[in-house]
Amino acid sequence: MQRRKFIKNSALSITGIVSSSIIASNRPSTFDENLTIKSIKPLVVCTWNFPNATSKAREVLNNGGNALDAVEQGVMIEEADPTNETVGLGGRPDRDGNVTLDACIMNKEGKCGSVVALQNIVHAISVARKVMENTPHVMLAGRGAEKFAYESGFKKTNLLTESTKKQYEEWKKTSNYKPIINIENHDTIGMLAIDINGDIAGACTTSGLAYKMAGRVGDSPIIGSGLFIDNEIGGCVATGLGEEVVKTVGSFLVVELMRQGKTPQEACEEAINRIVNKPNSDYKNFQVGYIALNKQGVTGAYAIHQYFSMTKNQDGINESIQSDYFTKP
Ligand code: ASP
Repeated sequence: MQRRKFIKNSALSITGIVSSSIIASNRPSTFDENLTIKSIKPLVVCTWNFPNATSKAREVLNNGGNALDAVEQGVMIEEADPTNETVGLGGRPDRDGNVTLDACIMNKEGKCGSVVALQNIVHAISVARKVMENTPHVMLAGRGAEKFAYESGFKKTNLLTESTKKQYEEWKKTSNYKPIINIENHDTIGMLAIDINGDIAGACTTSGLAYKMAGRVGDSPIIGSGLFIDNEIGGCVATGLGEEVVKTVGSFLVVELMRQGKTPQEACEEAINRIVNKPNSDYKNFQVGYIALNKQGVTGAYAIHQYFSMTKNQDGINESIQSDYFTKP
């Protein structure tokens, strides 16, 4: 499909004046120049099962906030939750016992901000947003990111909790690092939202892999890998073994596939296929999952293995959707 036509079809389908069958199937419709955007349904999706986060994002949208505010405040719920051990406060440390956070955010104009290996700050996503809005850069790392956070008014917080400290002490007894992700044990939150104006934004935040090498950075703060937004087309966020997502520039790939006319579901499936079909892919031993949203508000999710899920808040109701997966018998 020609790009211009696809974009027109996308805009049409969020009007609420196009038949629901077209929205459901994501089939192109005939474009009528006289039709205008009348009503757009806000929508929030995130990786895994985080209904409190999607509810918060939804509340922001309901109160007139835009998609960027919604995704930031949505993922902040998980960053502040000490029981979520792969995001923000209470995230598991690296091999040296330091909790280092990766996060990025992207807005409707394609502007983005990112922090990598940030220590001692709970809301990495908000620092990423400040990088986007208040600096001439896209990405700040380590000490520089932390310094910038303090200068921006963030307060220093010890991110290692009693629970994660205990687990780390236990882990140190063997220091047995297996770069194989337990497929039921991810909590990186990636969120996409579409607001009342039909604009899309996304956010992704994580403490990365537990007991990673000091300095290891995954996909989550890398624009195009952990997250990508193109407001004309849609957005995608990733979770799972970041190294594999980076190798295929996963989120950018999904958005580009949607630009070529694939549904969000088809695009996520194709991006996972790229990973598993690589020569000598070790995919049986790691998990990667994508969620995607297009301009029409159609969503998709796909993973290598079972148990990946997406939380979707449409019409104010949270729905936990089990993702389809590649290794299905
Ligand atoms: N993608 C994250 C990383 O590789 C981890 C995860 O999603 O669980 O750092």
